[in-house]
Amino acid sequence: NVAFTLSNVSKTYSNGTIALQDLNLTVKDGEFVSLLGPSGCGKSTVLRLVAGLGQMSTGQLEWGDAFRHKLAFVFQEAALMPWATVEDNVRLPLKLAGMSKPLVKQAIAEALALVDLQGFEKSYPRELSGGMKMRVSIARSLVTHPDMLLMDEPFGALDEMTRSRLNSDLLNLWQQKLWTVVFVTHNIYEAVYLSNRVVVMAARPGRVVADIPIDAPYPRE
Ligand code: ADP
Ligand code: ADP
Repeated sequence: NVAFTLSNVSKTYSNGTIALQDLNLTVKDGEFVSLLGPSGCGKSTVLRLVAGLGQMSTGQLEWGDAFRHKLAFVFQEAALMPWATVEDNVRLPLKLAGMSKPLVKQAIAEALALVDLQGFEKSYPRELSGGMKMRVSIARSLVTHPDMLLMDEPFGALDEMTRSRLNSDLLNLWQQKLWTVVFVTHNIYEAVYLSNRVVVMAARPGRVVADIPIDAPYPRE
């Protein structure tokens, strides 16, 4: 099943920068795809267009018929509210959605369990390591039960040890949940380790130059 298709997409920013030219990409439901390429090749632009943040100059985005496309975005910065506890940070998207109290409580507990942060409900971001803050940020994305995660270099600001740990945790999570994931990185090891497909992009103009299936060691479809 198709999650989405970008057809002949170009994006020129208002300052004249041609970020993407004639890009075609189809992502399937349940696929873990990495967008790999040097800084400036348009990876974030692709994610933002899929998320509906900003308009493409030409081309189109189409969603698969059977795909619910409830999205969650995970950024490089954990971007937590420093004055709020871990559970209040994770609660935010639910508050915006107007969910009932007991359900909210359960949803927060589930999301924190997924990222292994039980017991930190009442902690403040300043009391947590960089990796833990990123886990909170991921929990906040998962709490609404998205069908697709758009991750823009989520671990780029973390040290190597923390990054490998989070990579293996993310892979575990994905194997349990099988969301569709589009993961932006300029780290080839991370791309190959995590994804079952690596889409390589090049810059000036941003475009797809290779699309490589990875022989994943886990069962698919
Ligand atoms: P658009 O052409 O889609 O309207 P804008 O040029 O208005 O986009 O910029 C949108 C946002 O991206 C602004 O908040 C701007 O500060 C930010 N931005 C501008 N230049 C860059 C850049 N080179 N890289 C990343 N973000 C940028
Ligand atoms: P990547 O994520 O691969 O680093 P981006 O999608 O952020 O690439 O950027 C692609 C190109 O578009 C770069 O040349 C960048 O400077 C430019 N760019 C990104 N956002 C904006 C913006 N809002 N306004 C103007 N130029 C932008």
